[in-house]
Amino acid sequence: MKKISRKRFIRQGAAGLAGASLLAGCNTASKEQSTQTSFDPDRRYKWNMVTTWPPNFPILGEGCNLFADWVGEMSGGRLQIRVFGGGELIPPLETFDAVSTGTAQLGHGSAYYWAGKVPAAQFFSSVPFGMNATQINAWIQSGGGMALWRELYEPFDLIPFVAGNTTPQMGGWFNKSIDSVDDLKGLKMRIPGLGGRVFERAGGSAILSAGSEIYTNLERGVIDATEWIGPFHDYIMGFHKIARYYYSPGWHEAGTALELLVNKHLFEELPLDLQVIIESASFRLNQYIMAEMEAKNSEYLQKLYEEPDLEIRVFPDEVLEKLRQTTEELLQDIASNDPKASKVYDSFKAFKALNKPWSALTEKVFYNSIS
Ligand code: CA
Repeated sequence: MKKISRKRFIRQGAAGLAGASLLAGCNTASKEQSTQTSFDPDRRYKWNMVTTWPPNFPILGEGCNLFADWVGEMSGGRLQIRVFGGGELIPPLETFDAVSTGTAQLGHGSAYYWAGKVPAAQFFSSVPFGMNATQINAWIQSGGGMALWRELYEPFDLIPFVAGNTTPQMGGWFNKSIDSVDDLKGLKMRIPGLGGRVFERAGGSAILSAGSEIYTNLERGVIDATEWIGPFHDYIMGFHKIARYYYSPGWHEAGTALELLVNKHLFEELPLDLQVIIESASFRLNQYIMAEMEAKNSEYLQKLYEEPDLEIRVFPDEVLEKLRQTTEELLQDIASNDPKASKVYDSFKAFKALNKPWSALTEKVFYNSIS
């Protein structure tokens, strides 16, 4: 059975038919069929995958370990992947460069980490008041985002694939009550990326600190607030022991997309079946991480509700409105300073506008109806 399908696969591949249709169907960027290595069942590939996560980081790093297992199993051991946590092979934020130069063949992280190098990349992870997980998946995979993402990474010899989503994050842990826009003034919060820039423009003070230092900084009052991820990961960090309020929503990260980076020319040198296996495993990783996040956050929010000294709150409307307006100004500035960001932002905005009536009529009404 296996032999027959493999033979058929080679025959179709040689005719260029399977290649063309499979690639078109899967949206891979590889069009240079001629660069593919011919199918050799005995050839083994050993690839390294670097990640931005601490080693075996719950759900995200664990998902990468599973990804390596899936690829190994699907390829019958022909493509073996060794996963490295951030700092094990290279520093976490060098993932993009490491895969671009071929130091590692694969990487996993989120596109906003490369904002300094590629400002438009942020739209493929999360921008404040952007899209939720369902919407960003739809824009990237079916709404034109993927072609722009591939075009953006092409000069770096990289191909991006969707490979996870944090699903909604929380607004963060605060030791000061946020009752009005005035309460943001001078507030010292650990909040990275675009969220941090919006927070600064709205009057706050965005502090950068490594994950390992956040707990101590909050405990000692070096910062008044911090965001992290959601109930599951935040509970593990123990923030509920030292913060008084836990605010919703994660206006800055409503559904942060995660990415698999693959070195483009090394990918194109793989036999077609291994290319498809990598892409299929990235979709499985996407689904795995989303399901795990939703399930674990639900479970751990219950635990947080049981904490007697913790108040779980929603930001006042006027605070969210101020942050939203500030976000629009900032995104407009980013787009006007970078033509590539402008092109991506146009597509992002157009998809959001297209989707808005649909999601307002369905998801929004549905959630209100079950509450
Ligand atoms: Ca976060």
